[in-house]
This record gives sequence, C-alpha cells and structure tokens, in this order.
Amino acid sequence: MNYASTRNSSLKVTSAHAIVKGLSDEGGLYVPESIPALSEEEILGLCGKSYVERAYAVFSKFLTDFTPDELKHCVESAYNTKNFDTDNIAEIAKLKGGRYILELWHGPTCAFKDMALQILPYLLTTSAKKEVDGKQIAILVATSGDTGKAALEGFKDVPGTSISVFYPEDGVSPMQKRQMITQEGNNVSVCAVVGNFDDCQNGVKAIFTDKEIEDKLAKKNILLSSANSINWGRLAPQIIYYISTYAQLVHDKDIAYGDKVNIVVPTGNFGNILAAYYAKLMGIPVNKLICASNSNNVLTDFINTGVYDRNRKFYTTISPSMDILISSNLERLLYHLTGGNDKLINEWFGALKTEGKYEVNDDVKKQLSELFYADCCSDEETKARIHKTFTEEHYLLDTHSAVAVKVYEDYRAKTGDDTKTIIASTANPYKFGRAVYEAVGGKGGIEDEFELISKLETETGTKMPAPLAATKDKAVRFTQTVEKQEMGGFVLDFLGK
Ligand SMILES: *Cc1c(COP(=O)(O)O)cnc(C)c1O
Repeated sequence: MNYASTRNSSLKVTSAHAIVKGLSDEGGLYVPESIPALSEEEILGLCGKSYVERAYAVFSKFLTDFTPDELKHCVESAYNTKNFDTDNIAEIAKLKGGRYILELWHGPTCAFKDMALQILPYLLTTSAKKEVDGKQIAILVATSGDTGKAALEGFKDVPGTSISVFYPEDGVSPMQKRQMITQEGNNVSVCAVVGNFDDCQNGVKAIFTDKEIEDKLAKKNILLSSANSINWGRLAPQIIYYISTYAQLVHDKDIAYGDKVNIVVPTGNFGNILAAYYAKLMGIPVNKLICASNSNNVLTDFINTGVYDRNRKFYTTISPSMDILISSNLERLLYHLTGGNDKLINEWFGALKTEGKYEVNDDVKKQLSELFYADCCSDEETKARIHKTFTEEHYLLDTHSAVAVKVYEDYRAKTGDDTKTIIASTANPYKFGRAVYEAVGGKGGIEDEFELISKLETETGTKMPAPLAATKDKAVRFTQTVEKQEMGGFVLDFLGK
C-alpha cells in the first residue's frame, strides 16, 4: 500500500514515510492510493474479537510496510486497560429507538483524541526507525484543549521522543488547563502563550520553518515532528472503531450482517467523520454519514450547497473542540470524490487560501448529497438536548456529543428514516462540567471547578472519571507563559539548545 499526496497524485510513499513527515512537501495531505476492502468473511470474523484484534486487522491493510510483530507491538501497547478504563476500549451505550452512543472517551484524557494519540507514539517511533533511524523526535503541538493533553499522555516517557505543548493563556477550560499543567513524565513540557489558539498555531508553524532552530536541533540529532490531526497516523486509528462497532452490533444481534447503519459525528476538523467514510469504503454498510456542527456551521453550508466559505463570523461556543472554520481533512474527502484529481484540489485549496472560498463541481455536489446529511445547532439547543436526554433517559451527554444527538433527532423527524444509528460521543461530560451542569439545571454562582463538579455528581448520580478527579491533588508542574515570539526559545531551552 502506497500513499499519494492530495496535491500530487503521482507521489508514492510508504506509510512510515507519511507518518514521519505528517504533511507532504507541496502542502498536500497523504492519502492511501486505494482503499482496501474487508470481505464479508473478514467482517464476520471480527465479530467475536477483541479491540486489539480488530485494530490489528484494519492496520494490516493500511500499514503494509510494518511487520506483523511491529503492528502487534503497537496495538497491544496502546489499547489495554493500563490506558483505558474498559476492556472494550470503546463502549457502546444503547439508547432506545435504535440509537447507539459510541463512547470514544474511555482513555486517559477522557476525549476521543486518545483513540489515536495513544497509538500514534508507537506508530511514529516504529516509522522513524525505518525512515530516520537513530534520531530523537521532538513533537510540537498547538492546542485549543483536547489534543494537547491527549498528545502529552500518549508521548510521556516514550523513549526517543519528547513533547512540547502550547495553549492559549485564556483559551482553554479550567479542567483542560489543570489536566495539562499537572502533566507527569520526564520528556514533556507545557507552556501558555499570550494570545489565542491561532497565535499558538502560527508560532508552532514558525518554529517548523525556522532554519536556525532546525540546524541547532540537527546538531543534537533531533528532528521536529507534529501530532496534528492531519497526520495519517492519527486518521488510520479512527477507522477502527467504526468497524469494531459494526462488528460488535452484529455480534450482539442488534443488527444482522449487511444491515445498513447511519453514523453521526460531531465535527470540527473533519477527521473523525472522514474515518467513518473510510470505514464505509472498506465495506461497512452505511446509509447516511451525518455531519453535525455547532454555530460554526461552515461544513453544514458546504455539504448542502457545495460552496465552502470561511469568510464568516467565528463563534466561541460551549463545544469548543468544534470551533473551527478550516476543516483540514475535508481535502482528503474531496481528493477521493474527484477520483484523485490533484489539479482540482490545488485549484480549490488555492482559492481557499487566497479568497477564503471555493465551490466544488456538480459531480462532487451530487456525491456529497448522496453520502452525507449535514446540519447544525446553537448552544441553547445543545443545552436543551443535554437536559432532555438526561431527564428522559438518564444518560448524560457532553456538549459535543449533544450537538450530534440534536442534529440526528432533527434528521430523523424530518426524513422519517429509522435506520439504526451510531452516534459518536467524543468527550466525557465532566470535561465540560460547567456547561453540562448548567444544562441539567444546576444553580449558578459556583466559582470553584471541583465544587461544581461534585454538585454535578450528586445531582445527576454520575461520577467524574478517575483521571479528571486525580488532577485535583496533582502538583502543578508548568507555570510558564511566553509571548508568541518567545516560543522558539522555549523549545530550544527545553531541548537543551
Ligand atoms: C477534536 C474533537 C472534535 C472534532 O473532531 P474532528 O475530527 O476534528 O472533526 C469533537 N469533539 C471533541 C470533544 C473533540 O475533542
């Protein structure tokens, strides 16, 4: 299996190369040159299997340059009960009316980013051994909250690697900040930046292209790399849980093999829903892929009209991990829908860069409307859905998952489609405790985060997950704040110049 670039379809690189590099030189994203199929026999064979076995089966189709032993080591090191609070790794909560909530937040940081970031360090170090043997890998991450913590937990104390995470001083939730500044491990560093998420991201990009920094690090045998969501090593692991869930539902006799399902995904950067699309191409019978957005509804408009227009107001919402106006992974979808037409991709994404806008052709519009359904909802509607789902079904949703449930319920009411439906749940509700507390009717005026959370526990009869509870008594290790232009200096200091 080789990988091309969305902006140069004649490129052919191995998966190890794609994972080490992250982004192709001409700015494109790496895509598999063909999508491997799983036969009926193979899917049925996964039904009684463990998550590790299912993961192995999927990876072995995509990472053909990894040996069986290497792959086994990767999946077994990541998907175990040291890292996840359940044997099943991803849980399925079965609600009435054929709705299956796919809980992707049983990992160490309580958000779905763990599903990929627990295994990425192993995929990356294995790839690095093939591509750039002997080099130390220094990971840089700019985060708006969830990715930073998940990357820290993934890379902490992984031999041959180190990690630096930058977050906006005032741009993350109190729990997200607490999780990061108490991070343990001997190869980690965390730093606040004066500015917003874009400043952090631009600062990291500036370090990546700074020749002086590169030379200094090269003398120490250090190579910079990224744990960003455009890396193929973050996307491939996300395909697994959709295939695993289908197999599990067949195993549990909730569906018969061959039955179609809908998949609903609360979407930001388009990574998670793209993985569901890959699962469909591999052979999982999917009826509709339902793309749910918050008030930042650029994707809703795009899927419904074929016009992508980022020139719009940016909203700060209670589902912050979906507050995004440029969904990077959409580029991969369009590459596939155009049959690998790198000319069109260059044209459209060139226009996005210069004008903030592009329009796809009629053929792609038609495919979009067949494959997807897209809609959005406001913060008020999100809170109302958390309230309703809790009072009627005693199931507590987080703010992101509630967007998915709300958009799905509207879809069902509008279309009458009662196909059984998998709804991706991307974070534990305690990660966004304040908004969830208010949604279920909690009284205002509580400043302290842990006091509020203990109220949420007693009033809902649910429990804060252990990794979040543990941050209360952990020592604060990282207190430094830097200006944007000081980020490079911070990295050099941390890596010992
Ligand atoms: C990252 C994230 C999302 C968005 O996922 P994409 O793959 O970027 O579309 C949704 N919910 C939560 C909680 C997240 O952390």
